Amino acid sequence: GGTIEVAGLVVTYGSATALDHVTLSVRAGEMVALLGPNGAGKSTLANTLSGIVTPASGTARTGGRLAHIPEGRQLFPDLSVEDNLVLGGWRSRARDPSSVYDLLPRLAELRRRRAGVLSGGEQQMVAFGRALMSRPDVLVVDELSLGLAPMVTRDLAAHLVALNRERGLTVLLIEQNARLAFGVCERAYVLEAGRVVAEGPCAELAANP
Ligand code: ADP
Ligand code: ADP
Repeated sequence: GGTIEVAGLVVTYGSATALDHVTLSVRAGEMVALLGPNGAGKSTLANTLSGIVTPASGTARTGGRLAHIPEGRQLFPDLSVEDNLVLGGWRSRARDPSSVYDLLPRLAELRRRRAGVLSGGEQQMVAFGRALMSRPDVLVVDELSLGLAPMVTRDLAAHLVALNRERGLTVLLIEQNARLAFGVCERAYVLEAGRVVAEGPCAELAANP
């Protein structure tokens, strides 16, 4: 598994400070939640890790290869599931989705369907598969549960847990739904208005909300 090291991270948008000296780390093989209300800076942190956003100061590094499932999934709706997967592998020059079909067999059944006609849960699974095409060591999932029914969310979360436990994939799960995150992660950080306001084992955070 890979690692995440964020230290003294400051990100600004014009005169607004989205992240204010954020420090957090995820060790190899851990599954850690990043919680917090809308606007707390969670997506900004994910986008800084993946290099889309440049810090004003501080560092955001991953050890190993990173894949990022963005909020809203951002699939190509007019392309097939398989073409969405193949596009996910372009950076690592992976063109054969068969290993992803082994991990997520449902995607093999859906391979010829247009991504845009799938259910929200199926689309999130395509987004998982696309991320896995690059054979990541670290996976950052931004709002797994967004717009999904609780049962669908639990099924997807179970896939993440299996990837973490069986493949050693390091996971940072960004969630507004703390209950979901507490159910699958060992540790969590809580972000509010760009600052880490709480951190610790999920059992402790759940007991002192
Ligand atoms: P979260 O993911 O926790 O909802 P975000 O990282 O999306 O939070 O946003 C953190 C803050 O930065 C919010 O105040 C948001 O309005 C602002 N913000 C996010 N992206 C941009 C952007 N591209 N330009 C300007 N402000 C932004
Ligand atoms: P190349 O084939 O050009 O050597 P790599 O696949 O080794 O490219 O990736 C180049 C850089 O991009 C590496 O630092 C790698 O960690 C990063 N990278 C590769 N795939 C992804 C991805 N899906 N998301 C984020 N970063 C990635």
